[in-house]
Amino acid sequence: MQVGGVGLARRAARAVAAAAGLMVLLALQPEPARLAETAGSHARALIVSDQARRYLLLQYRAYPTEFMGCMIGEIHGNAVIVRRIAPADVEPGHSTETTVVPKQTCEDAGWAGTVGVIHSHPQGERCWYFFPGTRVASSDAHSFARQIYPVDAIMCGNRVVWISRDMVQQQVPLSGADLPPGAAAPVRQQRGNQVHGGAAASDGSDYGSR
Ligand SMILES: [Zn+2]
Repeated sequence: MQVGGVGLARRAARAVAAAAGLMVLLALQPEPARLAETAGSHARALIVSDQARRYLLLQYRAYPTEFMGCMIGEIHGNAVIVRRIAPADVEPGHSTETTVVPKQTCEDAGWAGTVGVIHSHPQGERCWYFFPGTRVASSDAHSFARQIYPVDAIMCGNRVVWISRDMVQQQVPLSGADLPPGAAAPVRQQRGNQVHGGAAASDGSDYGSR
């Protein structure tokens, strides 16, 4: 009993020390009112695992329309770690070249531990939450404002643009990405191939146009 008591005391002491260390780390961060915010609200780093990177690159290459994924991971201090990407539940008709709308939340779709949602911009364009040089919020910033997650991200070919609750936009290069922005999901080329291959819509409609 006594040994267990000592062990508990030691563990408690360690926990206190760890918490104190965390407080020191937080105190080193420049943002004011940081402790009043929820975890990850002032995230300064988005760490994407190799598995998640591979998945994103593969999805990006495969989809001519926007895809959406649930970023599964955890938050350590001001770093958000994305372990893997789970597919969001999206009605196929609700994914176009410029929009994607999930049918339900990541939790309702069965995924626990979601730290944020990521969606793609297949042409590698408009990868921002604020129009460049302004504080004018894009539609992606507006949809982030309606979500509950600490971060949000846009898959943009060779980089992930992301934002946390302090609304500071940042980006992460995806090393190993051999696709420049806009080169992925070559919709126009696909259409050309379809025409040359005789596989265009039988009524001649340009169903792939934007
Ligand atoms: Zn978007």
